[in-house]
Amino acid sequence: MKYQLPTLSYNYDALEPYIDKKTMEIHYTKHHQTYVNNTNLALKNNKFINYTIEELLKNLNDIPHDKRNFLRNNAGGHFNHSIFWKILKKNTILNGNLKKAIEKNFKNFSLFKENFETAALTHFGSGWTWLVKKNNKLNIVCTNNQDNPLMGDNICGVNGFPIFGIDLWEHAYYLKYQNQRFEYIKAFWNVINWDEAELRFKL
Ligand code: MN
Repeated sequence: MKYQLPTLSYNYDALEPYIDKKTMEIHYTKHHQTYVNNTNLALKNNKFINYTIEELLKNLNDIPHDKRNFLRNNAGGHFNHSIFWKILKKNTILNGNLKKAIEKNFKNFSLFKENFETAALTHFGSGWTWLVKKNNKLNIVCTNNQDNPLMGDNICGVNGFPIFGIDLWEHAYYLKYQNQRFEYIKAFWNVINWDEAELRFKL
């Protein structure tokens, strides 16, 4: 099988109390694993199995119509979660180039935070809110379901390179926060891995 669940570089309880152990375990071993399994299943004996996950998402229109939507959801889910685990870590500090760029694009960090929170809170249903980079400008965008900004305007209505994103599916927070999406969004600021975000900003 080609696509694989990436190794988690921390324990399930590493993000407590902001993201609880049980949620992490189910999210990673069940939800993400299912996206991986489904992607492999759909691409069995298909030349697209040789694409990297990014190539697959950037070229969804090349995929046969009968598999396109299934892969949009499942390969998208695999990619989104692979980013998500990497951009989570406690006790890192926003610094360097990304800090400067956020202040340049959003005036200051508080305004950026406010805009990001509003976008995430008001996004209807399942999806993601992202900080993306495009032509060295930063934007906050939302995608539905497991869409990713790399899929581009024609497919998901937005575009850009994702620096980090918050998973807004209830499976990401319901065990701990129930319907309190805003509490989860506020807690998210404590677990953003700013070191990884800086690395992605430089890509
Ligand atoms: Mn998820």
